[in-house]
Amino acid sequence: MSKTRFRPFALATAALLMGCSLQPNFAPRANVALQSQSAANQKVFEQSAAFEPTYQNSFISKRQLIKTGQTVVKVSYANNDQVSQLSGLGMDIWMVTPRYVLGEVNEDVLARLRGSRLAFELISPEVGVTSRNEFDPKYHTYETMLADIHAVTAKFGNLASLHDIGDTWEKTQGKANHDIWAVHISGQGAAEAKPGILFIGNHHARELVTVEIPLQLIHLLLESYGKDPEITRLVDSRDIWIVPMLNPDGHKLAEQGGDQRKNTHELGRYDGVDLNRNYGFQWGGGGADTSPSGETYRGEKAFSEPETQAIRDFASSHKNLKMSMSYHSFSNLILWPWGYTKQRINAPKLVEIGNTLGKMTGYKPEQASDLYICSGVSDDFLFGSLNIPAYTTEMGSWGDGFDPPFSKVADFWNENRGAALYLIDQAGK
Ligand SMILES: [Zn+2]
Repeated sequence: MSKTRFRPFALATAALLMGCSLQPNFAPRANVALQSQSAANQKVFEQSAAFEPTYQNSFISKRQLIKTGQTVVKVSYANNDQVSQLSGLGMDIWMVTPRYVLGEVNEDVLARLRGSRLAFELISPEVGVTSRNEFDPKYHTYETMLADIHAVTAKFGNLASLHDIGDTWEKTQGKANHDIWAVHISGQGAAEAKPGILFIGNHHARELVTVEIPLQLIHLLLESYGKDPEITRLVDSRDIWIVPMLNPDGHKLAEQGGDQRKNTHELGRYDGVDLNRNYGFQWGGGGADTSPSGETYRGEKAFSEPETQAIRDFASSHKNLKMSMSYHSFSNLILWPWGYTKQRINAPKLVEIGNTLGKMTGYKPEQASDLYICSGVSDDFLFGSLNIPAYTTEMGSWGDGFDPPFSKVADFWNENRGAALYLIDQAGK
C-alpha cells in the first residue's frame, strides 16, 4: 500500500533528536513478558512508574526507525469516552492503560488529535518516524501457511478438509491470487449435525502471532486425534472451522516489515479498510473512522470488503455454529460483545465463559466497550446478528508488540491452548 513506508531513515539522527543514545543491548522485553503473565500482575505493572521508561526504551532501542508518516503518541485521558473518541479520530490504539492510551497516528489523524484538546506527547523521536516491524522468517507467510494447511488436511483426510471461503480485495481486482482459507475438522458422524465453532486469525495483518495460534490448533487437533481421549472426543463431537489468515493482502505487506493493520483496498492517498470495523451489525457507530486516512476506517458501507463478506456468508450459512473466537494482538485481554455500546450485554453464560477464558489464559476479561467503543466489529456481528457467542483474544503485551520473535509463539500457545479446547467443548454445552 503506502509507497513511502520502507524508506530507510537515519537511525543515528533519530537518536540524536531524542536526546539520548541508543542502547542496543537494552532488553526490556523479557521483563515485560514476565510481568504480564497474569492479568493482575499486568495491571500493577502498568500503573508502576517503571513501566514508562521501559516502553519508551523498548520503542527506540530495539527497533530500526524509519520514515513511515506514522507517529507513536501517548494520550492522557480522564474518562472512557475520551478513549472512544480517540478510536473515532482514527488513532491506531495499541494499548489502553489506566491513565493513557498508546498508539499510532498518521499526519491527518495527528492534525485531528491536535484539534481535540486531548493532552498527548510524542513517543516517536519526531513526527512521521516510527519503528520498522520485524518479520521473523520463521513466521508463516501466506504461501507457507497455505502449503501447511494443504499438507495437514491431506495427511488427515479422514478428519479434515480445506475450503476456499472467499477472495481477498486484491483478488477481486485481479491484482493478486489470495484466497481466504478455512480448515474444517470433524471426526465421526455428520458434521452439520454437531455444534460448530469458528476460529478466525489475522483480521489485522501485522498481528503475526494470530496466524500461528490457529495453525497450532489445527495441528494439535489432527495430530492428537486417536491418541488423546479428550481431543478425540472434541473432534468427534464438534464441527470445527479454523480460518488462520483472514487478511492475506495485508499480511503480504507485514511480511516485508510493514506496519499494516487494514486490508489493502486502494482509496487514494491512504489505503485500506479496517476489517474489524466493517461488519454489518451497528456498523457506522462510534470508535470507527469515517475517513480512509484512519487506521480504523470502517469502509464505504457495511460489508463493503470481500474479507468481511466471506465471514458473513460463511457464518450465516452454517446454522450449527454455536461459538467463535477471533485472535488479535496485543494487550493480554479476553473481550466479548458489545463493542458498539457501553450497555451491558444480557447474556450471563457468555460472560461466565469469557471470565473462565480470562482465568485460563491469564488475560484480563472484559466487555469490549469497557476498553473503548468500537463499532462494526466481528464479535458484535456474530452475536448480534447471528446469535453466535463471540470472543476476541488479544495476545501479548507492549513488550511483545505486533512482531515478537517467533520463539514467543510457544508461550502464547501455552497460554491459549487450554482456552481453545475449553471453548470447543463449550460450543456443545
Ligand atoms: Zn487486531
